[in-house]
Amino acid sequence: MCGIIGYTGNRQARDVILSGLKRLEYRGYDSAGIAIGNGSLNVIKDKGDIDHLISVLPVMRGKFGIGHTRWATHGPPIKNNSHPMTDCKGQIALVHNGIIENNITLREELMKRGHVFRSETDTEVAVHLLEEFYDGDLEAAMRKTIKELKGSFALVAIHNGENGKIVGARNISPLVVGVGKRENFLASDVPAILEYTDRMIYLLDGEVVTLTKDRVRITNFEGKEIKRSWQKVDMTLEGAEKGGYDHFMLKEIFEQPKVIQDTIIGANLNAESGYSIDLTPDTIKIIACGTSYHAGYVGKYMLEELTHTPTTVELASEYRFSSDTHSEPLVIGISQSGETTDTLSAIKTAQKRGLDTLGIVNIVGSTMTREADSVLYTRAGLEVGVAATKTYITQLVALLTLSIKMGVAKETLGIDDARHLTKELRKLPKNVRSVLDQSDAIYELAQKISGAKSMFFLGRNINFPVALEGALKMKEISYIHAEGYPGGELKHGPLALVTEKTPVIAIAVKDQTYEKMLGNIGEVSARGATVIAIGTEGDRELDKYADYVFYIPDVPPLFTPILTSVVMQLLAYHTANILGCEIDKPRHLAKSVTVE
Ligand code: GLU
Repeated sequence: MCGIIGYTGNRQARDVILSGLKRLEYRGYDSAGIAIGNGSLNVIKDKGDIDHLISVLPVMRGKFGIGHTRWATHGPPIKNNSHPMTDCKGQIALVHNGIIENNITLREELMKRGHVFRSETDTEVAVHLLEEFYDGDLEAAMRKTIKELKGSFALVAIHNGENGKIVGARNISPLVVGVGKRENFLASDVPAILEYTDRMIYLLDGEVVTLTKDRVRITNFEGKEIKRSWQKVDMTLEGAEKGGYDHFMLKEIFEQPKVIQDTIIGANLNAESGYSIDLTPDTIKIIACGTSYHAGYVGKYMLEELTHTPTTVELASEYRFSSDTHSEPLVIGISQSGETTDTLSAIKTAQKRGLDTLGIVNIVGSTMTREADSVLYTRAGLEVGVAATKTYITQLVALLTLSIKMGVAKETLGIDDARHLTKELRKLPKNVRSVLDQSDAIYELAQKISGAKSMFFLGRNINFPVALEGALKMKEISYIHAEGYPGGELKHGPLALVTEKTPVIAIAVKDQTYEKMLGNIGEVSARGATVIAIGTEGDRELDKYADYVFYIPDVPPLFTPILTSVVMQLLAYHTANILGCEIDKPRHLAKSVTVE
């Protein structure tokens, strides 16, 4: 993970880099640093977030430099392990995103040759290699350095002897060039530099870039020049501001009606332009990580119901190591950023096995959109809060539109039924709004449960993965231990943990699991647990079983996860807020997981 930024131009680099780092903070925030070139290198770094860095930063004059906000993989977040790393002579500064897998061997060799290491990071080997290879040309040294490295990296370096020059290289971890007028930028992600330019060049794996204020030169690792023009990005800075909300997460939860609408419109465009893959496979595999995995799990039920196609869901980090008897003809990879390393590797594994791949992705131009055979975009816009909300909801919507499309293609879904479902889809923004209207009531309830040390989330069938996601959201931002379980499974072990101090959140909407869920609610109530149920509007039974009930509008069962999930999001948000947690930047977490 981590965020990288580089600047060269006529402005004071310090200001551009700090504002960029602030916008990249969602990618990592355990330590940060900056290096400015001005005849010599001025490097300041420390443990802590960007605000802390700003508070310790002296005036630093200079028109080119690099910055980094770290999410540690090797070595704890302390000052010495923060980036930029410098070489023995203090002439080169380097920032890195990713993992250098052969760092231990390289370190031993470099130490034997007299290099002095000052950090425990994997990154530091790269700056000493640059030092060894440096012969008056940073680009050439970079090319030689990356030949020695195994693993994933976005590397960006400057040398005090090469005024105004920044050299970057990419393998797996993302890097984007921002093209300005008499200034150029380099960053891990577009929002970092959107304030200055909307003209972007996405660097591809195996490319090196050299920036001066007047020139962007892209070459491959062998040094062959690559011509690529910039593209204008369709993203606004507004998305990167809180717009009156206390947290990005709350703002993003409340944006859901709009982004659902955008995703439905987008999916229609997709359907018109067609897919380059077979939409009638015999079996389907969905691969993803984290919240996207939960979205995929909900998608399994949608696809099986509407297309009658056996569908399995697997964590991307596990799929890569599965035997190749796993040969479902269609593999769907889900990733908000399109840069999730494990999911990208799983897509590559599927392609090596000769399978069709479809990516469900939010970020246009990201690696997965180039690597998958077909792409279905979620149109959630920029999501800054680390805990996924609107990107997850739009993944559910995308999966639903895909299931309808495939159901029609496979003739397992009649045209009239498809029309009916499409009509229901259009009602979703309004239905989500009616859940959002209950935010204050959910806040009241959050006050009652925020003292708990542990919680259970229960659901069955298509709402079982929503229970998993509800528990994940609670863990991520409130740090309360929470577990999601299928309602029927509790009595096979976890019930032993249920006491009057364990709130249980149970999804008991009116579908074929309803009666069974009432039974499960009875089981936990009998053990003294406070039960918060999520039911269907018009249900007059549920409040006899549960201590508190929130109602979602009466929609077809396949649509319920989209509404029950919103209740979960608000519950996690309000609980974390009452506890005073760092909601948008939960400890140890980063938004896009670009390391394995
Ligand atoms: N592996 C490097 C470190 O631990 C970079 C991690 C990152 O991508 O933030 O410092």
